[in-house]
Amino acid sequence: MRDLARQLQQRRLDGLYRTRKVQEGMQGAHVVLDGKPCLAFCSNDYLGLSHHPQVIKAMQQGAENYGAGSGAAHLINGHSKAHHELEEALADFVQRPRALLFSTGYMANLGVMSALMQRGDLVLEDRLNHASLIDAGLLSGARLRRYAHADADEAATQIAERAGEIMVATDGVFSMDGDLAPLPQLAQICKQKAAWLLVDDAHGLGVLGEHGRGSLEHFNLDADDVPILMGTLGKAFGSFGAFVAGSVELIETLINQARSYIFTTAPPPAVAAATCVSLKLVQQESWRRDKLSSLIDQFRQGAASLGLNLMPSMTPIQPLQIGDSQQALACSDALWREGIYVPAIRPPTVPEGSARLRISFSTDHEPNQIDHLLSVLEKVL
Ligand SMILES: *Cc1c(COP(=O)(O)O)cnc(C)c1O
Repeated sequence: MRDLARQLQQRRLDGLYRTRKVQEGMQGAHVVLDGKPCLAFCSNDYLGLSHHPQVIKAMQQGAENYGAGSGAAHLINGHSKAHHELEEALADFVQRPRALLFSTGYMANLGVMSALMQRGDLVLEDRLNHASLIDAGLLSGARLRRYAHADADEAATQIAERAGEIMVATDGVFSMDGDLAPLPQLAQICKQKAAWLLVDDAHGLGVLGEHGRGSLEHFNLDADDVPILMGTLGKAFGSFGAFVAGSVELIETLINQARSYIFTTAPPPAVAAATCVSLKLVQQESWRRDKLSSLIDQFRQGAASLGLNLMPSMTPIQPLQIGDSQQALACSDALWREGIYVPAIRPPTVPEGSARLRISFSTDHEPNQIDHLLSVLEKVL
């Protein structure tokens, strides 16, 4: 038996110990964490939809219509009309024949790769991909290789040496860096080799593109370029869950073979009912994306004039590189003492030596709050 106490103590010494803060009430610019009111720049609720009155109402109504839980897996009788309508609306939104709901993004990635890939196949991933994509590659049994971050040329070289079934998988927007994958190049490489391309657009959907259709809209790519699109619903959509969109054959294959789809309870129908409304708001209220992008510009200009270590990101994820884990933690603590919450992101979430403050913005923020953040950062850093 491992000595867990000693292991935990070592974690503490390395600045890698993780703890949670307890939040009261809803997401928003101002939250109460561990009983302390603060200004938060940390959530993925980029469009502020998690607490939109219409979304909340839809969830309440959904609970009245369907009850609190789904009661069964999708393949038994847990697949409600609310789930079904959401799948149709999502497929429409991303302009693909079909979409399939999963309980979480993590499970969606596991499901896709384990259904499509097997021993002897090759899965090729960006080194900075989300943990769920990495785990999915490992679980699939295929050979997993990684290429340097956003390096489409290295991906092309690795793919050129191989025959047989190949899947390239990448985040659309990298969750801890905020930058975009070189999707047009990856799409071209994959087409030449008839390889699958899976894009996990957890942080792009709702946020990027004129209509909020994410990284693919940003780069003007279609289903022919990217045959497998995964999106999550717990971030910009403000609710919970995830989906995979693609061809009829892809979705039917997942329904029949994705173990993380088959062997689990369907999410509460009320959640799907709420997501239907937030999807409408994502489409109709483009002012949310406009406001977000003006807040991001304001922050980047201010941070650049302070000489802060910005990363090349045009998204609401605006990390400040610190490097050392202990130091990143100390910066986060100093901000916390000033009434601002920004988490320190440390290995293994990010590579060794690249600990950072992960600042994220939402339409809940106002320009004066960005100014306040900048002035406190100037003081603390
Ligand atoms: C958050 C996230 C996931 C996981 O989605 P959940 O619905 O939270 O499980 C997958 N991929 C990326 C890139 C993410 O940021």
